[in-house]
Amino acid sequence: MELLKEVKFIAVHHSQRSIDSLKRIKNLHIKINGWEDIGYHYLIDKKGRLQKGRSKKFIGAHVFGHNKNSLGICLIGNFDKEKPTKKQIQTLIKFLKDKIKKHKIPIKNILGHREFWDATNILDNITTSQSSSREFLGVTKTCPGKFMDMDEIRKVLRHF
Ligand SMILES: [Zn+2]
Repeated sequence: MELLKEVKFIAVHHSQRSIDSLKRIKNLHIKINGWEDIGYHYLIDKKGRLQKGRSKKFIGAHVFGHNKNSLGICLIGNFDKEKPTKKQIQTLIKFLKDKIKKHKIPIKNILGHREFWDATNILDNITTSQSSSREFLGVTKTCPGKFMDMDEIRKVLRHF
């Protein structure tokens, strides 16, 4: 796996399944996707426990066009159908605060998976035929779910 040399962004994801676990996601990514390891660097379960996925020494596999300069964190749940738990949000905020400080990441670069498309012009860097469909590129349009309010997360971070 390639080394992660710089962290300019953090991508927030949901697992898209209400009942899920690090173990299950890791299994899917390795056995179904054929990856060397789970795609995300961190996970947060519904009880708000932070769990380690892929070593942060290596680039992840979670956000098209930005794996080389981002950390990926996935919250367990399907936030198109349910809200993240309060404990998950508390852990996420604390995690993001720590990483922002450590890597000097601007708060505007704390993005939900779906926001990368608009925020970073990824589509400028790929050909028209490739860009014809986001799904083609493996992106779920709503990730991290419609009940995950990234503007609110960034607002909270700005007030620390
Ligand atoms: Zn995602």
